[in-house]
Amino acid sequence: MLEIKKLSKCFEDLEVLRDVNISVEKGEVVVIIGPSGSGKSTLLRCINLLEQPTGGEILYMGEDITKLGKKVTNYRKHVGMVFQRFNLFSLKTAVENVMYAPLKLNKIPHKEAREQAMELLGKVGLEKKADIYPLALSGGQQQRVAIARALAMEPEILLFDEPTSALDPELVGDVLEVMKKLAKEGMTMIVVTHEMGFAKDVADRVIFMDGGYVVEEGSPSEIFTRPKNERTKSFLARVL
Ligand code: ATP
Ligand code: MG
Repeated sequence: MLEIKKLSKCFEDLEVLRDVNISVEKGEVVVIIGPSGSGKSTLLRCINLLEQPTGGEILYMGEDITKLGKKVTNYRKHVGMVFQRFNLFSLKTAVENVMYAPLKLNKIPHKEAREQAMELLGKVGLEKKADIYPLALSGGQQQRVAIARALAMEPEILLFDEPTSALDPELVGDVLEVMKKLAKEGMTMIVVTHEMGFAKDVADRVIFMDGGYVVEEGSPSEIFTRPKNERTKSFLARVL
């Protein structure tokens, strides 16, 4: 469904992604790990075109999205993103946050948008918090609202950039549970995370990046129990 070929990205003379080749099948959960500065966020930002790649191709359903021009808005509807910082609208309630994009971009009736949003809040365990403003929610609850908001556009792929790393440890579990549930339902997901337990349990494939390169990829057991590359080994020795 997504095929990344020879992707490169430079910021002036800094090469942040180099010859990245990744393909993601429908329903697959791909977890990306790697040290700080290795290019993980930049890769996700290229995938949803928050950054324009310097070279290479990103094929979505066979079409090169780096050459879409005005059709980018339509492409973005298919790709949801959840950030480390939840980025909710602070002057809107939980349910209003979830309704916002469908109302604005899909122009569906208010009542329908609200019903759909309530259903999604139910899915992330937050029906009862619908009319609460973000500041009165815990970090974990805010992040679950952010996931519901991403789901509201009915994306075909969800990108997560360290969705739990800004959370207090006791709040991480609830967010990971929601992500596990989505994975089970067959959502295609690309997840940048330091939660190695989640990677082991949920990932179909783990990709290790370092210095802008995909250094190694494989099943969780290949990467975690018998990594081949020295750089993968030393990274895992530090984080496990
Ligand atoms: P972390 O684990 O800390 O989030 P990361 O793997 O997500 O790191 P990136 O955020 O993708 O790494 O950054 C990769 C490199 O690109 C870093 O050296 C960073 O300073 C640089 N970089 C990222 N965005 C920009 C930008 N807009 N302009 C210039 N340099 C940038
Ligand atoms: Mg990052």
